[in-house]
Amino acid sequence: MKEILPDPPAVVRNEVQSVQERFQKNVIPTYARFDVVLERGEGSYVWDVNGKRYLDMGGGIAVCSLGHASPDITAALVEQSRKLVHTSNLYYHQPQGLLAEKLVGLIGPGKLFFGNSGAEASEGLFKLARKFGHDEGRFEILTAENSFHGRTLAGIAATGQAKVKKGFEPMMAGFRHIPFNDLAAARAALSPATAAIMIEGVQGEGGITAATPDYLLGLRRLCDEKNLLLLFDAVQCGHFRSGCFQSYQRILEDAPADGASQFLPDGIAMAKGLGGGLAIGAFWVRAPYADLLGAGTHGSTYGGSPLACAVALKVIEVIQRDGLAANARTTGGFLLSELARLAQARPQAIRQVRGLGLMIGVELAGDIPAFAASEKAPAIQFINALHRAGLLAIPAGTKVVRLLPALNLSRSQAAEAVRIIESVVEQILR
Ligand SMILES: *Cc1c(COP(=O)(O)O)cnc(C)c1O
Repeated sequence: MKEILPDPPAVVRNEVQSVQERFQKNVIPTYARFDVVLERGEGSYVWDVNGKRYLDMGGGIAVCSLGHASPDITAALVEQSRKLVHTSNLYYHQPQGLLAEKLVGLIGPGKLFFGNSGAEASEGLFKLARKFGHDEGRFEILTAENSFHGRTLAGIAATGQAKVKKGFEPMMAGFRHIPFNDLAAARAALSPATAAIMIEGVQGEGGITAATPDYLLGLRRLCDEKNLLLLFDAVQCGHFRSGCFQSYQRILEDAPADGASQFLPDGIAMAKGLGGGLAIGAFWVRAPYADLLGAGTHGSTYGGSPLACAVALKVIEVIQRDGLAANARTTGGFLLSELARLAQARPQAIRQVRGLGLMIGVELAGDIPAFAASEKAPAIQFINALHRAGLLAIPAGTKVVRLLPALNLSRSQAAEAVRIIESVVEQILR
């Protein structure tokens, strides 16, 4: 595993520096970027400008469903771009209708709206909830502590994490947070103004925490009883990542309880994996509410362009053709059990491993001596060590390392990931 490479030639070192300097001068510094300058990718591998190879277990934050430089995506891009890239939503075109039909088939009776990102998708559901409650004066949306719903003003108000709100007060009114997986707390939090409850099936930014079957079924009953919309932010946990199209389908598949097989939320926000790297977001609305947002109430200039929809259709086609939902389940299961074995062997480094399909969180132990000297969060220090060892992963908070790789990650690549993570664990405990 040790890389005994000579120093990169001076000209390459200058390229890293000059790329970083150009960012420092010209790009608004909202991200604490890692010290990695990427150049190209192929499948689950990416290369930096020094020619160093990384196994990409982050997948561009759960976005690159088919990995990098997928020939299928390239073909769809080229083919569609020769016909129509963009039309605006003043007109009809074939790909948007086909994609909507495909997504309805994967979820259930309802309709779709297309935008360009996750934040826009969840924002659309907030507007749906406002419209739904409007004539009764209801507007409030309950979201979960530790949730994440995007970086717009409504998104940060909806997000149950203080760090995203800080400095942007006053928050947009109408959001309150409830503890996740606590049905009694949800019931107790309802007010006469409540119109909807919104959760992630598996919390992503919050550190990979899945909803329990009882919580999902209980929220559905509660929302039916109180005439509230049950909304899902599936931007990260959706699109086959869990091993099913939607995480609630996976979570409820073994639930014997009443209503598990008919379970449907009233709205679902999607983005990330939907375009396999091309920007597209969408929200699905269940049939009884699908026409609530009528002509003139919502819009997006770019949303659901022929190009984005053609690519999204291709991504779904390849996932189905190549059995990638099943791969997410088995390869994810393999990763989870191998990492759980590592956690058991090395509790001084890993506190817990959890997840569903190819959405896995590795929670680091509380006080790892090797990390005491630096101010940087343990998750960042661990990921820096993973980078040196040739693997990309994504932090969640200060102590969770997330794996969100391409859905076509192979078993041998998963085994390689485990070997690299194990080598880094050994190294920090040395
Ligand atoms: C990433 C994410 C978003 C925001 O998506 P953007 O495309 O960055 O706007 C919203 N909700 C969840 C659950 C996410 O993981």
